[in-house]
Amino acid sequence: MASGVRNGGTGRMSGRLDRQQSSTATPKAAPGKPRLSAAPGGGGSAYRRTSSGPLPSAAGGGGGRASSESGVSSRVRVAVRLRPRNAEEQAADADFADCVELQPELKRLKLRKNNWESDTYEFDEVLTEFSSQKRVYEVVAKPVVESVLEGYNGTVMAYGQTGTGKTFTLGRLGDEDTAARGIMVRAMEDILADITPETDTVSLSYLQLYMEMIQDLLDPVNDNIAIVEDPRTGDVSLPGATVVEVRDQKSFMDLLRIGEAHRVAANTKLNTESSRSHAILMVNVRRAVKGRNEMDVSMSAENGHSSSMVGSFRPPIVRKSKLVVVDLAGSERIDKSGSEGHTLEEAKSINLSLSSLGKCINALAESSAHVPVRDSKLTRLLKDSFGGTARTSLVVTIGPSPRHRGETTSTIMFGQRAMKVQNMVKLKEEFDYKSLCRRLDIELDKLIAENERQRKYFDDEVERITAEAQFRIAEAERECKIVLENEKMKYHQEYLDSIKILEEKWKVHQQSPKKQIKETESTSNGEVQNLLQNEKVLRQSAEDESNDLKNQLSHWKKMEATATAEVVRLRKMLDTEASQKEKLEEEIGVLKSQLMQLSLDADETRISLDTGDGPGKIFPGLDSLMSHTRSSQPREQSNGPKAPVAKLFEQVSPQTVPVGLQKILSLLESEEPDVRIHAVKVVANLAAEEANQEKIVEAGGLTSLLMLLRSSEDETIRRVAAGAIANLAMNETNQDLIMAQGGVTLLSMTASDAEDPQTLRMVAGAIANLCGNDKLQTRLRGEGGIKALLGMVKCGHPDVLAQVARGIANFAKCESRAATQGNKVGRSLLVDDGALPWIVKNANNEAAPIRRHIELALCHLAQHEVNAKDIVSEGALWELVRISRDCSREDIRMLAYRTLTSSPILQSEMRRLRIEC
Ligand code: ADP
Ligand code: MG
Repeated sequence: MASGVRNGGTGRMSGRLDRQQSSTATPKAAPGKPRLSAAPGGGGSAYRRTSSGPLPSAAGGGGGRASSESGVSSRVRVAVRLRPRNAEEQAADADFADCVELQPELKRLKLRKNNWESDTYEFDEVLTEFSSQKRVYEVVAKPVVESVLEGYNGTVMAYGQTGTGKTFTLGRLGDEDTAARGIMVRAMEDILADITPETDTVSLSYLQLYMEMIQDLLDPVNDNIAIVEDPRTGDVSLPGATVVEVRDQKSFMDLLRIGEAHRVAANTKLNTESSRSHAILMVNVRRAVKGRNEMDVSMSAENGHSSSMVGSFRPPIVRKSKLVVVDLAGSERIDKSGSEGHTLEEAKSINLSLSSLGKCINALAESSAHVPVRDSKLTRLLKDSFGGTARTSLVVTIGPSPRHRGETTSTIMFGQRAMKVQNMVKLKEEFDYKSLCRRLDIELDKLIAENERQRKYFDDEVERITAEAQFRIAEAERECKIVLENEKMKYHQEYLDSIKILEEKWKVHQQSPKKQIKETESTSNGEVQNLLQNEKVLRQSAEDESNDLKNQLSHWKKMEATATAEVVRLRKMLDTEASQKEKLEEEIGVLKSQLMQLSLDADETRISLDTGDGPGKIFPGLDSLMSHTRSSQPREQSNGPKAPVAKLFEQVSPQTVPVGLQKILSLLESEEPDVRIHAVKVVANLAAEEANQEKIVEAGGLTSLLMLLRSSEDETIRRVAAGAIANLAMNETNQDLIMAQGGVTLLSMTASDAEDPQTLRMVAGAIANLCGNDKLQTRLRGEGGIKALLGMVKCGHPDVLAQVARGIANFAKCESRAATQGNKVGRSLLVDDGALPWIVKNANNEAAPIRRHIELALCHLAQHEVNAKDIVSEGALWELVRISRDCSREDIRMLAYRTLTSSPILQSEMRRLRIEC
């Protein structure tokens, strides 16, 4: 394998490819399904054997899908583009051949060393001087843009000597000739055409990097933008840069024009050429992922089973990706210091980012364990784009002139090394908790409405059946009564008739002579017997009739019993429905608390992204407490105490505080530990809302919370109570009340008994809030508040340290104010209580919130000459000097500087130590 590169051009055959080898090159991959060719290990050919599909697509690209866990390995794709000879070259180099010869069909470039010798290099794509801008876009950038639209990060960079066509390739607007549009314009056209404007957003920032300063090209006053890395994901962002949402191509073109104008103006001001700076266009794409989740929800909703529904809700997913287009500074060496009026230092700084990029690429190409990304702003910025988790495409631009062979060679070598860099492309998906919350809310309302409808239907049904049964019973009773009455009258009448007949016969018998009597006696005996017989028959039929009626009556009674049983059955059904409703309500409660948790999670995510000052508010730190609740929830669902608490919880939603507040406060003293925990969490939750705080205090909630600190054995309760007190302590009136009720002593006690850092965080937060009250300074210190704060630092947890630092900063600020107004004389109470050594030790703490508070505290202390001696003796002077030089916040930096320059004691010490500031 001949190589003019690795052998330093020593071999005669160097740079030549034999036919055998070229025919073994990877066969052409179908467009959109290119093959990934592995970078050869060390010691192989200097030229690449590559796939020849569209340039930057790799395995999993062009329509493929990579899971965010695994990632897909993909090599950086490199194209070389030759600029046509310009007018000057045509005249000056007319008698010389170009220093390069391209073989685009073989994807090779020959670099002439002299008339008989050349080195050959293979690239992923070789673009001749005739290549159209469209073709360049399609092979270099389009696959990157496509993968950005699929949710991966992507980067397109141009590298090359000034004047070889980097800006031509990337940045041409094509105003005068649409065919001349460059990669940036075409990329945005494709992005805007693909997204759904209702659900997706595209926004951009446009920046320039010069002398290790990042300047906002959309707002040039903003010229020292910081790079922020997410320690969790490694994502790099520039929160200080202007971000503009792009809705159409015209506004995008306007932004590019504005950026370009600012770039020219800025470079004129800096007295440099734009070729010395890097231009960076960052396009952020945020897309909603449709399908899977909505189906989950609608299916479970149709099932109608709310418990299964809780589990199957998943937040909708959004994919976030960014496209970074970098027009790098000219790659020519500018070691001739002073050539542009720069000092050597400046010249180094100008080149730092580019040379550092080269070093990183070397390290990545050699799979070296250490890649020096932190050495420059450019490499830090491209950390997640180059050799990182993005698809990357590099176009190296060269000119044809033999006069620049040196630069052209080094550009080609840069491209060759970049071809060995492997990237791990990762899909960036996030859950969209906000819209899940919205959907859960809607689902909840549907369930409530359905439940209400069912209940009403059952109530109506029971009423109807009861009325019908009663009506039937009344009807049957009435009919029975009438029949009985009739029968009774009939028999009575018959009875009277037979008596009458017998009486008449008796009379006749009395009046007739004895003889006759005898005759008639025998006849009347026969008649009587007949009558008796008749009577018997009648009686029998009456009895039968009566039995019949009795049977009918018992039949009706049975029917009545059946109707009553029916009523009882319906009542039971109603009871079951009611208990089901109760269960549903419990689940609604669970859903609500989960909802709240989800929105807290979402808030927390947002807050964690925000690197601003640590707020005085401890809850939303409620999340850490709620996570305990979350883990214990399945158990509690089936438990007795949960249901009433959940109901109360509903009642004490922020809109209806007064209704349930008294109840919930009374539950703080419940015998049942579970109930107490729930109650204190609900109170803490409410106390996190400013609107509720006054009501809670009025209802005696603060006193109850302090009582819990004093009497509760359970650390969870004490932690949550302390958190609630911390939130209440944000308000001045409450601060007085807390002090008046011995709050500081109770908080100190809680801190000394605590085992969980989160408890300490809550307590420290509460004391830190009290520290910010001018009127309470002496008393707070007298009751051991500062000592308690300093005592908590031994736990070492950064959250706790941040609260302690905040407290100390608050205290120092109030003290300083009082001293300035003449209300305080003498040394700082903080110094008296021995806070200085800790301040000095942590003034340069690596956690920004801690560091910033301490830096502020130190500046406040140093402002007063009474503290100066201690500042010197504790070694805090060095920290002040450092702050005045390095602090990233300008106001603090200036404060430190002013303090140092205005204090005679500090000044004389600095002179003694020969420190300058
Ligand atoms: P760079 O950004 O690398 O310094 P430019 O993009 O400014 O270089 O190009 C320098 C000059 O060369 C410009 O006038 C540009 O129009 C011209 N040029 C560059 N590439 C091409 C090309 N492929 N075809 C025609 N002209 C080109
Ligand atoms: Mg340029």
